[in-house]
Amino acid sequence: MTAPLFDGLPPLGADDGADEEILRVALPVPLDRLFDYRLPSRLSRPETHGHLGKRVRVPFAGQLLVGLIVPRELCGDDPETRNERPGKLAEIQALIDEEPVVSVAMMGVLAEAAREILAPIGTALAHALPPGSSPRTARPYALTPRGERTLAHGARAAGALEPVTGRILARIAKKPLTRAELARALPDEPDAPGASIDQGLEDLLRDGLIERRLEFRAAKARIPTDRIVHVAPDIDPDEVAKTTLTRAASQARLFQEIAAAAHGIATRSLTKSDPRVGALLRALAKRGLVVFEERPRLFATETFLDGGGEVSLSEDQSEVLGPIRDAIKRQVPERFLLHGVTGSGKTEVYLRAIAEALEVGRQALVLVPEITLTHQIVARVRARFGDQVAVLHSGLKPGERLAQWERLRSRQTAIAVGARSALFAPLDALGLIVIDEEHDGAYKNDEGFRYHARDLAERIASQAHCPLILGSATPSLETRHSAEIGRIRRLSLPRRIGGRPLPAVEIIDLAKEKAKNPRGRKLILSRPLRTAIQHALDQGGQTILFLNRRGFSTRIFCFQCGHAERCDDCDVALVYHAADYQLRCHYCDGVRDVPERCNGCGDPETALLGVGTERLEEEVRSVFPSARIMRLDRDLASRRGHTESVLRALKDEEVDIVIGTQMVAKGHDFPGVQLVGVVAADIGLHLPDFRAAERTFQLLTQVAGRAGRADRPGRVIVQTFVPDHYAVAPVATHDYEGFYREEIGHREALGYPPFAELTRVVVQAENESEAREAAEALAAAARIPIADGAPVELLGPAPAPLAKLRGRFRFMLLIKGKDAGLVRSVSLAILKASKNLPRGVQTALDVRPVNML
Ligand code: ADP
Ligand code: ZN
Repeated sequence: MTAPLFDGLPPLGADDGADEEILRVALPVPLDRLFDYRLPSRLSRPETHGHLGKRVRVPFAGQLLVGLIVPRELCGDDPETRNERPGKLAEIQALIDEEPVVSVAMMGVLAEAAREILAPIGTALAHALPPGSSPRTARPYALTPRGERTLAHGARAAGALEPVTGRILARIAKKPLTRAELARALPDEPDAPGASIDQGLEDLLRDGLIERRLEFRAAKARIPTDRIVHVAPDIDPDEVAKTTLTRAASQARLFQEIAAAAHGIATRSLTKSDPRVGALLRALAKRGLVVFEERPRLFATETFLDGGGEVSLSEDQSEVLGPIRDAIKRQVPERFLLHGVTGSGKTEVYLRAIAEALEVGRQALVLVPEITLTHQIVARVRARFGDQVAVLHSGLKPGERLAQWERLRSRQTAIAVGARSALFAPLDALGLIVIDEEHDGAYKNDEGFRYHARDLAERIASQAHCPLILGSATPSLETRHSAEIGRIRRLSLPRRIGGRPLPAVEIIDLAKEKAKNPRGRKLILSRPLRTAIQHALDQGGQTILFLNRRGFSTRIFCFQCGHAERCDDCDVALVYHAADYQLRCHYCDGVRDVPERCNGCGDPETALLGVGTERLEEEVRSVFPSARIMRLDRDLASRRGHTESVLRALKDEEVDIVIGTQMVAKGHDFPGVQLVGVVAADIGLHLPDFRAAERTFQLLTQVAGRAGRADRPGRVIVQTFVPDHYAVAPVATHDYEGFYREEIGHREALGYPPFAELTRVVVQAENESEAREAAEALAAAARIPIADGAPVELLGPAPAPLAKLRGRFRFMLLIKGKDAGLVRSVSLAILKASKNLPRGVQTALDVRPVNML
């Protein structure tokens, strides 16, 4: 007897037939190539349309992997792939899908995107696989034929074995088990259980009674369902209220609730609020008034819905919608920048555009930077389009994710809303892509296939012949510049809806405050900010205190004037290194002595800057002891439900002051927020990142937009040491263009994007000198393709701004230049050289990086 290795699959190594197909497969491995495998004829069913886009299970380097069958020409005529001789090709173990799960179009888009950013093609394609595709491989112990015979001879032979060994054998005979599973199955071994199992396994292996096998264990992704209750067909709810249910008040109330919901209600949500509802539902069903239906569950949690009612468009809105509608109708891949101040009605424009896409029989995809279900766009799309929306968020269990995916693929659902990974959703009839808050850094994937959602969306949109809308109040410099040079069409919404004023922004000069009150409290909360909080509390309004904590206390920062030291060449903040008491530039590795006195104001007392949200919370509690205070930052947000509970408290006005990092700045709409205070606008300015000014301006503007969205006018207070900085001052006048002009000038002068191509290489290793040497080796390899006087710069190697992360030392190289082809060939040289680095050294190459730390 040969035990099947996989449930329902033929055993490994079965040999049959000669006329086998050879298929090209993409595997999720960090190698830039595809692989050929033989498809044994027992697996190839009569097919008319071939196997492209189906998943397969194949052996690779001692493991079983899930791969994707791709067109032969996907990678061009790659000689490495062609080299394999058919006779030596390994065999496909199983065809997973009956139907293709990835379209040929998507494969093409991903292959091109991967090539452009120098990412391994298989890693890119893996993103498009349906959820739950990652298999676990296991190496369980199984009986050999000899083991079976031994067991079959029963007590006589088995009795000769040690008791533990006998038990192991009996267990394994039922089903192959791993070491860990055995330990669980035989928990109560009296004498040293772990050791005896190991010994037993070793003995059995040596005697040839058992062997190790390779087994594939798929993560189970079950599609969860909800029981939905509807009014029964042919029942007129108004009639019922007047006749049948006049004498059953509770049933009548429940029936009306059900009748009011256009898409039915999940019984789960009804019984949660009142357990007696179960009996009432049964009574209604018995009367034939309602029916039940099982429907795939769409949402893990409830959402806050605001009104889905249509409004009539403002003049500005109608004007911008014109060309968008036109592009949707004519199916042209036109790109739009929808540039509108916060509250100008961008979301309403998206909703109308989505409706238009649906009208012409196509699907729509909406991307948001970070998806929490409380995100107002999610809520508003849901409110308007109900069941036609699939929300793809990371909180979904694999089964729920699969359910959404399946509904989109089968076109039961026409709209997908999600974070950047929603780009991979199977939408074969795309009519529109919207990227909201397009400037957000979260659109860049920072691992493996390091795509930028904006670029990938552009490719997908051109492939699908559909328009792309990039929306923002503070567009990225890249996008705004694209509009300037005519690559993308700018549509603007310069006013808030209903003539509401933009919030008044006051900028507090901390240096002046300090001068007024030299012996006073620390400057975390200046006097004007304290007064404003008190005022908001007195009026029953809410306050958000915002602290951009991201960064480190390792920057020299003057508490008198706010001056921070910068590199003259790279114009980024210098980082203080305590060990050698020096300031260092993390781009070019230049070092400088720590100044004796502040270079800004001459004050002898320079200081390290370091205020965290916890410290701020302490301070706020001591100043306002009776206020209801909550905190939201990255650490707390990782606790399940914490973000939701803070946002809910804000919405329900059950909290007075919320202290938070940028998480509170994003896309939420809280009518009760009367005051927004930015505690230290400077913090972000002094990050060693060429986008520091852009980020700061964007963040301050977004945060300011959170105040006064409803009828009460909002107030914003920004504390800073540099009130005149070009990234801070224009926040007060909501002057994006003023900021943009200034910043684009700096970018051009220093040759940063969008005027140059940039590649960032980070080398890391546990051993510092090993990491540095490896970085130097890569730098040397990079110099080879650079001719004298070529317009490309190689910066570094220098310690990365985060010089040590998770116990590994990190060094950084930057390649920057106006000539994209040249930057690419230097990057390729580095990529090639990185394959020859010692084990234990890791290289990450990021084309067009966003994260510079
Ligand atoms: P943005 O997305 O630009 O921040 P929103 O779309 O959220 O702006 O609009 C701000 C507020 O104005 C929302 O409460 C929205 O419901 C409302 N609104 C949008 N368009 C209109 C309109 N044409 N008429 C009335 N109210 C509108
Ligand atoms: Zn420098």
